[in-house]
Amino acid sequence: MTVYGCQMNQLDAELVAEVLRSGGAEVVDEAARADVLLFLTCCVRGHAEDRVFSNIGALAARKRRHPGLVIGLLGCMAQQHGGAVRRRAPLVDVVCAPGRLAELPDLIARARAGAEATALDPPRGRAGPDGFAAADQALDQVEVRRLVGKPSAGHAYVTVMRGCDNFCTYCVVPNVRGPERSRPPRSILEEVRRLVGQGVRQVTFLGQAVNQYSAREDGRRWDLADLVVRAAETPDLSRLSFVTSHPAAMTERLAAVFRDVPAVAAYLHMPAQSGSDAVLRRMNRGYTVAGYVERVAMVRRLRPDIAVESDFIVGFPGETAEDFEATAALVRQVRFAGAFVFKYSPRPGTPAAERFADDVPMAEKRRRHNELLALVKQIAAEEKGRRAVR
Ligand code: SAH
Ligand code: SF4
Repeated sequence: MTVYGCQMNQLDAELVAEVLRSGGAEVVDEAARADVLLFLTCCVRGHAEDRVFSNIGALAARKRRHPGLVIGLLGCMAQQHGGAVRRRAPLVDVVCAPGRLAELPDLIARARAGAEATALDPPRGRAGPDGFAAADQALDQVEVRRLVGKPSAGHAYVTVMRGCDNFCTYCVVPNVRGPERSRPPRSILEEVRRLVGQGVRQVTFLGQAVNQYSAREDGRRWDLADLVVRAAETPDLSRLSFVTSHPAAMTERLAAVFRDVPAVAAYLHMPAQSGSDAVLRRMNRGYTVAGYVERVAMVRRLRPDIAVESDFIVGFPGETAEDFEATAALVRQVRFAGAFVFKYSPRPGTPAAERFADDVPMAEKRRRHNELLALVKQIAAEEKGRRAVR
């Protein structure tokens, strides 16, 4: 299995290994020994997709020698391209969306029998969150039992939310991971207890905008702060963190967990994406630069040693030299402990790709990318030094 992309994909890879093992398969590390090759994919940026297509294309000779070899394309690219993926990658036998990974053993068996082997989530708009409930429950069960009888690595990811409803204009995630669904608190807390019972000491909660967590259980509403406080009560859990936080949903109530709950790590991943209000508006991010800075200040008041990290996109449609300078200024002002910097790439089916011309030339995107990354690295190194001295 080859895994691309975010932490959610790292966790999905564990779920894939679990369903395959419980279906009687042996999961091997060396691709050369395998008779099923799986690619767990990411389509957030064009670059990630191109790598997957070229890696699959490179298997042509092997597939000719071993026609029984099963090649599976799993995850976000599968949902994005659907059955049409086989036009660009004709070697692919199995196509499986992120929400349908529990069906993988069945899909592989179908492919071996020469039958159609595609499992996709219902398209957005046609099914609300209820249309995902059965598949979500199947995945929750796989997730909860994934460590049974296995030595643990000390750290584990736990899904608290699936999908996203924020529709940032550049982003394909709402299309490929479906509507926002918060997992029931009972199920999450049970998973944390089990993980800790098996030796896990550090847990990271996962959600695309994890601080928008909202669930109703036993007649009350739970937000992320409630969930974190309860999970942190699990005996022997030493470190708890959550990613990714959306700036527009960062409340004082949640920020207080950084001060009040000792197990909560001094770490906040809260992507700013840009330091220009005009760009943020076109991105549909729902906050201003001043609002972002204020939220960072609020969190730092409550937890002065917190490491704040961000993501940035350079070369978003219409990003001027002044907009880019404003992003660099934000990096200097906030002094992030780290940040990912991405060159904008238009993703089919997103509002930005449909509405805005991709008008910043690639050479300029590269220049801004290099410049911002150098600045981020320089400041991150200085901050690291400062922390070490303190
Ligand atoms: N849910 C997270 C991020 C998900 S995607 C959040 O809201 O922050 C991870 C990162 O990829 C994003 O933060 C963004 O910086 C980047 N990204 C997403 N779509 C992109 C695109 N079309 N082009 C370039 N970078 C993109
Ligand atoms: Fe994409 Fe925005 Fe949702 Fe993050 S919050 S997954 S960037 S739509």
